[in-house]
Amino acid sequence: MLSGALEVMLGFMGEFDLIETFFKRPPRHAVLGVGDDCALLAVKSGQQLAISSDMLVEGRHFLSTANPLHLGHKALAVNLSDLAACGALPKAFLLSLALPEVVPQWLSEFSKGLWALADLHQCDLVGGDTTRGPLNICITVLGEVPAQQALLRHGAQVGDDIYVSGHLGDARLALEVFRGTLSVPQSVFEAARLRMDKPTPRVELGLALRGLAHAAIDISDGLLGDLQHILKASAVGAEVDTQQVLSTMACAQNSGLHQDDLLRLTLAGGDDYELVFTAPENQRKAIANASLSSNTPVTRIGKITASPQLTLLDNEGQPLRHTFDSFDHFKTP
Ligand code: ADP
Ligand code: MG
Repeated sequence: MLSGALEVMLGFMGEFDLIETFFKRPPRHAVLGVGDDCALLAVKSGQQLAISSDMLVEGRHFLSTANPLHLGHKALAVNLSDLAACGALPKAFLLSLALPEVVPQWLSEFSKGLWALADLHQCDLVGGDTTRGPLNICITVLGEVPAQQALLRHGAQVGDDIYVSGHLGDARLALEVFRGTLSVPQSVFEAARLRMDKPTPRVELGLALRGLAHAAIDISDGLLGDLQHILKASAVGAEVDTQQVLSTMACAQNSGLHQDDLLRLTLAGGDDYELVFTAPENQRKAIANASLSSNTPVTRIGKITASPQLTLLDNEGQPLRHTFDSFDHFKTP
């Protein structure tokens, strides 16, 4: 882009000063990082590149008042979660930013949140784009996975166990409290809000599941909706034990909410960034070891079935009637 024109548009700090100040660092893995027309990455033989993009839009994914430190974390976390779901090792990412104006304090906090998570996973920021516009953060991640070892949606087999990582329902709990549709004690809200703002991408678990899990996906739109993607791609069905799903709750556990609300939060919540995956029964011990080695709780919540529907079971093992729907940007208000 034309630097002169943009420098005027962006005020005292120009586009390139901004990139130099907040987003340029020597890369660890990349052959060439920020500063040229392209970044350069070397790909090891026998490895495949796993690539994914996720966008965060103000007013849609976050409020204008969102803490920029958390936003920097979350923008990268939701992308790393996609790599985790594929069992890929994060290597590099691109950051495309539209900013209404240059606020150095905001950028400083945003980049702090971003770098902290990038450093944790040794993931290089190698390029991107910066423009003026309504606040919009788009990250593209690149990871590495040995050929034929990526965890995908289509591999679930009849008889597989179904597992989820970590804790479900917290992010949606915080959102509903924000919206005023649920109310919980302040301490529960604060904890849930932190889970919404600072999700933990389950990268280590994804890596540990290579060669073990038959199918995997990360939960961005709600457990049921995302599990349905596995079922559809694998042409199978599932039985899910709702009591096991409820047992994964963290903040909502002691919130005093009605069982129906808890079911809705955990089954159809969204924004959890946990992994749901399937593995054969004879790998239970190996899955427990993967959970231990990755320091990530894992809960077995059901079974893959031949009949194609998804059945929820109540605490007596009986089918539960429900109308839960997953989050859809074009259907959900
Ligand atoms: P071009 O004109 O080739 O599109 P730009 O002038 O947009 O390149 O960007 C200059 C350099 O800065 C490029 O290496 C680009 O990848 C990098 N870059 C631009 N915006 C960002 C950003 N938000 N974060 C990291 N790198 C960026
Ligand atoms: Mg160019």
